[in-house]
Amino acid sequence: MVQETGREVAIERLAAVIGECRKCPLWENTNRAVPGEGNPGADLMLIGEAPGKQEDLTGRPFVGRAGKLLETLLSGIGLSRQDVFIANIVKHRPPGNRDPRDEEIRACTPYLEEQIRIVAPKVIVMLGRHSSRYILSFLPVEFERITEIRGTVYQGLLFGHPVRLIPTLHPAAALYNPAYREALEEDFRTIGRELAGVGGSEIRN
Ligand code: URA
Repeated sequence: MVQETGREVAIERLAAVIGECRKCPLWENTNRAVPGEGNPGADLMLIGEAPGKQEDLTGRPFVGRAGKLLETLLSGIGLSRQDVFIANIVKHRPPGNRDPRDEEIRACTPYLEEQIRIVAPKVIVMLGRHSSRYILSFLPVEFERITEIRGTVYQGLLFGHPVRLIPTLHPAAALYNPAYREALEEDFRTIGRELAGVGGSEIRN
C-alpha cells in the first residue's frame, strides 16, 4: 500500500509540473494540459497521440468519441478506465488537431517516460502510429505503416522494467471504418490474453 501511495503522489506531482509546462509553444493555444490519468499501479498503460478538443476542455485523456470506443474495447476485456493508466505522447492539444511535431514530441516525452517509470506497467499498448513509433524506437523496431505491425507483442526492457509492448490502431481511425474496428477488437483480445499471462501470440525481440 505504501508503494501505491508513493506512486499516486508521484503521478500527481508530475501532473502539476505538466500543468505548468512551457517547454514548447503548444500550451499557448490550449485551455489546459492533459497529463494522463488512471490507476498509478496499473498493469496496463495505454498511450495515445495528443489531446483533442474535448480533452483540452476537460483536462482528461480520451473523453471524446474515440475515448468512448476505447472504453468499449476495454470493457470487452473486462477492464474499465479506473483499472488502467491512460496517457498521451504530447500533453497539450496541437492547434486544429494537427500531428505533433518532432520538436514537440522531444520536449514532451520526458513526462511520458517518467509516467512509465512510476506506473511500471506489465503491458503498454500504443494507440496509433505516433506512440508506436516513439515507444518501439527504444527496442529498436522501425515500421512504415501501423497496419504492418499492429497486434504484434514485442518484449523488451523499458527504463529498466521488463514490459510487453503492443502497437494497435488509433481508435479515432476506427470510428468510421468497420475493418479497422475489427482489427482493434482483435488486438484487444491479444491484450486481454497478455494481461492474463496466457500470451500464446507471437513474441518478437
Ligand atoms: N486522441 C488521443 O490520441 N488522445 C486523446 O487523449 C484523445 C484523442
